[in-house]
Amino acid sequence: MLDNRCMFLKSSRKAICRFCKLDHRVYMKREVSFLDTLLMLFITGLLSFAIWDGPDLRSMFLFMGMAFTAQVGLRIRYRESVKCPHCGFDPISYKKDPSQAAERVKKFLEIRKDNPQFMLKPKPNIKPIYLGRDQMLALRKSETTTDLISTLEEQKRGLAPQPNSVERQLPQEF
Ligand SMILES: [Zn+2]
Repeated sequence: MLDNRCMFLKSSRKAICRFCKLDHRVYMKREVSFLDTLLMLFITGLLSFAIWDGPDLRSMFLFMGMAFTAQVGLRIRYRESVKCPHCGFDPISYKKDPSQAAERVKKFLEIRKDNPQFMLKPKPNIKPIYLGRDQMLALRKSETTTDLISTLEEQKRGLAPQPNSVERQLPQEF
């Protein structure tokens, strides 16, 4: 009972990153609520009395401006909080384009390595991937590592063909 009430008051929840297994806070609120709207209407009323000495239709523009800013602000806050601050993994962009998300994590980790800002922060728990010989050769041949990463992930899920077929996908001169 008490927990439920606390959940209602809380603005964020703990989320565990799928990639590095560390936790961070994600904001739950994405949209302007009914209470926010009432509050904004109240403020609009006050401003209307202060500026135009009474109710004025022009105050609706103030209300619309406030509502728009609040909505966009909440959206940006939510979208930014979803990204993992430890490894840069973004589950929303991963759903849209896994290879691009992988590329971003790689860049983030590269920056993190040389940045003293992260020295005292918890280290992402990322295990290195050990590759077989044929997979290593494929990696050297392929232009982007992300292709191989996605192949490996699919293999794990049992969707992709097994390792030897990586060789078959390579160009003829191999
Ligand atoms: Zn992470």
